[in-house]
Amino acid sequence: MQDLTRRRVNLHPAPALAEAVTVSRFWRAVDVSAADQCWPWQGDTDKNGYGVFFYLGRIRGAHELALSFSTGEARTEGMETCHSCDNSTCCNPHHLRFDTRRSNIKDMHERGRAARQKDLAEHFGVTDGSVSMIVRGIRWASVGGPIETKRSQYRNGTDCATGATERTRPTDAASTSGAGASPR
Ligand SMILES: [Zn+2]
Repeated sequence: MQDLTRRRVNLHPAPALAEAVTVSRFWRAVDVSAADQCWPWQGDTDKNGYGVFFYLGRIRGAHELALSFSTGEARTEGMETCHSCDNSTCCNPHHLRFDTRRSNIKDMHERGRAARQKDLAEHFGVTDGSVSMIVRGIRWASVGGPIETKRSQYRNGTDCATGATERTRPTDAASTSGAGASPR
């Protein structure tokens, strides 16, 4: 009897309970918001900017776990966890899917140009058409256009990580131009 009263910590909780605690801890590190918004990971990240979380004996991608914990599906061999939003920290399962690398690259090529131009247009407060002319070097040649060819090479053979990397590039190009980059 005395031994039982002294045992304050249960070192071997029921597996289902331990799992629930882990999953709960995982979601506390995600900034969950509306279904159509990105849900940024607030925890540790790897060198590529992807969220990481220790689960079942090893470090795993936070976005992979977000999808698994939401759908009950595990990522299978040869599949990648891919973002439709190109936001490497995003853990919104609506923005995630398990897909092959080949399909992911194809998908990025198909939507990449439109998505980037839309981001740029919003960022600089101009129309998509203006951005199109800028990236082709027809307007604002001082910011370094045409820049599309260089980026296309950059994208080839890469994976989900490219979205976040590319997103920083327009700013880089603008700031190195010395023109102040104030497109009005
Ligand atoms: Zn997202």
